[in-house]
Amino acid sequence: MSVAFIDFETTGLDPDRHVIWELAVIVDGVEHCWQQKLNVGQLVAADPVSQKMTRFESRYHATTALTVANSLGGGDRFSELTQGRHLVGAIPSFDEERIRRQWVERFGWPTAGFPWHYHIVDVEALAIGALAAQGWRVDPPWESEDLSRALEVPMISDADRHTALGDARWAKAIHQAVMAMAVRPLTDPG
Ligand SMILES: [Mg+2]
Repeated sequence: MSVAFIDFETTGLDPDRHVIWELAVIVDGVEHCWQQKLNVGQLVAADPVSQKMTRFESRYHATTALTVANSLGGGDRFSELTQGRHLVGAIPSFDEERIRRQWVERFGWPTAGFPWHYHIVDVEALAIGALAAQGWRVDPPWESEDLSRALEVPMISDADRHTALGDARWAKAIHQAVMAMAVRPLTDPG
């Protein structure tokens, strides 16, 4: 399965006002993580609660962030890394909506579709299905910690939580734990 484990940190929850500032993509076992340079308006619009949660002040490196503000940046790195792949993350709809907006701002609406595969995978939903198959009933609203514990996947450390790479690694670990339960391919007739 061709997948890309992803996570972004943003300046807030409102896609109309808030933007991505940190991206992590793990493909074929290689971790990629970078930050995008924010302009003054984006910094002013940032939600203080999100800034605190993602430890923006201590982690954002304005001098080394890619300087193409609010674009995909880095040779359209995200598009290259995720070409044809399923995006896999914890609630990746949040991340995908934001990267779509960036993509459209830069390139316009893609008549041939976005570079990544349109079918995105939420590892929390995967985990619930896998746990159900093992007899665990997960009542909403659930905590990510509980899913992690039941799957025997270490939870992200406090230091790494709400960092793009820490969260992408956790999504990968949950995905791997679920896929490790699989025995034969779905296309196997027998
Ligand atoms: Mg995150």
